[in-house]
Amino acid sequence: MTGEVSGYDAVAEARSVRNVLDIHWSRICSRLQTEVGEVEYRTWLKQISIGPVDGDEITLHLPTRFLRDWVRTQYGDRLSALWNAELPAIRRVELQVGRPDPVADPAVAPGDEAPADAAPVAGAVDERVAEARSELSRHDLAAPLDPRFTFDTFVVGKPNEFAYACARRVAERPSSPGFNPLFLYGGVGLGKTHLMHAIGSELTRGGKVSVAYMSAEKFMYRFIAAIRSQSTMEFKEQLRSVDVLMIDDLQFLIGKDNTQEEFFHTFNALVDAGRQIIVSADKSPSDLSGLEDRLRTRLGCGMVADIHATTFELRISILESKAAASGVPVPAKVLEFLAHKITSNVRELEGALNRLIAHANLFGRPVTLEATQDVLHDILKAHDRRVTIEEIQRKVAEHWNIRLTDMSSARRARAVARPRQVAMYLAKQLTSRSLPEIGRKFGNRDHTTVMHAVARVTELMERDTAFAEDVELLRRMLES
Ligand code: ADP
Ligand code: MG
Repeated sequence: MTGEVSGYDAVAEARSVRNVLDIHWSRICSRLQTEVGEVEYRTWLKQISIGPVDGDEITLHLPTRFLRDWVRTQYGDRLSALWNAELPAIRRVELQVGRPDPVADPAVAPGDEAPADAAPVAGAVDERVAEARSELSRHDLAAPLDPRFTFDTFVVGKPNEFAYACARRVAERPSSPGFNPLFLYGGVGLGKTHLMHAIGSELTRGGKVSVAYMSAEKFMYRFIAAIRSQSTMEFKEQLRSVDVLMIDDLQFLIGKDNTQEEFFHTFNALVDAGRQIIVSADKSPSDLSGLEDRLRTRLGCGMVADIHATTFELRISILESKAAASGVPVPAKVLEFLAHKITSNVRELEGALNRLIAHANLFGRPVTLEATQDVLHDILKAHDRRVTIEEIQRKVAEHWNIRLTDMSSARRARAVARPRQVAMYLAKQLTSRSLPEIGRKFGNRDHTTVMHAVARVTELMERDTAFAEDVELLRRMLES
């Protein structure tokens, strides 16, 4: 394996795919030669050249209609079976008259299409098989890294600064004690995959470090495919030959006992060999019930970093950065509006902004608050949490053990005033009520009092993590 996980060069990609197909075809040819004998092979099958793969179908070409029909009736099924055994993704063989079209396949020079002229000798086949395996592994083992997900494009704020720092650290010095494995966890759309890709891009930039990134689902799929094609040894070797292994969304392995077991062994082999493991999941290792205990224990042995739910401030920073990158001017009012309305995850926030920008580009109209409400009508409706101010007051009063009536009383003692401010802040965040309306519900207070409360709570949340967590918890309870 090498460090190039690019996967974005289409011609190189087509060429490698082609090489892989050629090599598999060599294997099939030598199989057929033994099965049908030299004479039969030379008479009929030697004339086949391989064409492109489309979906689960590979096209094979024969020079004449007669040959095509003969091969189809005599060897059609056998050819399908052999291809399928070589490459499980191929399920059907299509036989056509003619030669493969070199134009349709940029990777094939005329006369270079297949080793059809002579069956390769055994030694050469072995060599090419080995080549095919490593070629395949490069292609198939790791998913390509998304070039947009870098450290530069990741916006750092309170909720993700620790995870970000850990990711940076691992990218700088992989396999350092205390940071192996790196376990990133957090809710959907909060940047786990982004950070993993950022680490991968950083590490592969020098070209010296080999990185394999894949989702746990892909890991399972590859493992099962390896069992089917009787190549589990190769699969294991491939995995164990990387310097950095990243498995995304590990929670997917819950209940998949065999795959979990395989992952556990791979994990141990790599860590013992001083390689770096990076794993993400939606929960902390200790909360991932359903994962084998010994795996859970090992996962928690390195650095465990969580990404918290976004704060309003972080959402604004992310929106600002993405709007700036798009080149379309988006008024601050619109960004604030979005950050207030779409609180669940960054992916949705990003999606909403992208839609606004696309609209602006398409119709050549500036982004305004009215246009936003119009364009995002459906998204906003889904996010219109029907939380009432009364509900907020009740929950907050319960949380800090004060009387509900104190929400509208004139008492100014800190023990009462602070929860009241939190309730006002949450009312502003979670409802579409205006400041004067909110003020009225809190004992007819002035809208400037509400404004002050919002500013004060925001500031406190930045300074005091425990307080911030309390408020976030309340927000989540009210939202659910
Ligand atoms: P997860 O893997 O945690 O579900 P992703 O990493 O796929 O989330 O993030 C979802 C989307 O939000 C991606 O497009 C990602 O670039 C973006 N995103 C998440 N967090 C941030 C951040 N802090 N800064 C910039 N973009 C972010
Ligand atoms: Mg993800």
